[in-house]
Amino acid sequence: MNRLSILLFLVLIVFVPVAHAQTVAPPQLDFSLNRDWGYGGLGGQIQGHFSTRVRGPDNLERVVFYLDDQILGEAEQPPFKIRFVTDDYPLGEHTLYAVGYTSDGRTLTSNTLHREFVSAQQGWQDAGRMVLPILGIVFGVMLLAAVIAWLGERRRAPISPGAPRSYGIFGGAVCPKCGRPFSRHWWAPNMLVGKLDRCPYCGKWSIVRAAPPDVLRAAERAELEAAAPPPVPTDETEQRKKDLDESRYLDE
Ligand SMILES: [Zn+2]
Repeated sequence: MNRLSILLFLVLIVFVPVAHAQTVAPPQLDFSLNRDWGYGGLGGQIQGHFSTRVRGPDNLERVVFYLDDQILGEAEQPPFKIRFVTDDYPLGEHTLYAVGYTSDGRTLTSNTLHREFVSAQQGWQDAGRMVLPILGIVFGVMLLAAVIAWLGERRRAPISPGAPRSYGIFGGAVCPKCGRPFSRHWWAPNMLVGKLDRCPYCGKWSIVRAAPPDVLRAAERAELEAAAPPPVPTDETEQRKKDLDESRYLDE
């Protein structure tokens, strides 16, 4: 359904009843169709299990439901409701309506509904035609988000050694190649004994399990020690070294 037909439909539901009311008496019974299970597309195409219901005056005694001029069913007590399956009737355009009988002998007519009965196959094809583009968009957005997350991770500033960090929902692992702890990636394939993941520090691939917190903390501390600058020589030792060097030259 394109935008123009939606607009036309809105115009019709707003203006037609107004115009109609002046010439034709409103239906005496309110006849409605409800989908129980199946397909109900835009444009009045239906397939599957449906129920019809009639609402009328309190003295309504009996309602006969019609499909074209064939009796679809009867209801003799409220809620005046019957069920039917579209597959039991020929495919194509149908008119649905009801006739009611009151205890004081009046015959009441309902509004009519026009529906096209379609095959299950066509119903699902039409549903697929509406749903597939939406699924396509959803998967496209997911893929885009994944690519952005991956690029963002590559660009992110490296965590300074020993810094406390959160390892995320997949847990942290200690790289068996370089020994640094890193967050296991959501995209890393699961290899039963662990995830085949890439260490962001040394870039090597290994199968890693989520390590317990104490192991991760130990790895963080090791990281810190490894990265600690070598002890700065004091002025005194520096001076002595210099003296030593100078004396060496003097000896020669
Ligand atoms: Zn590594």
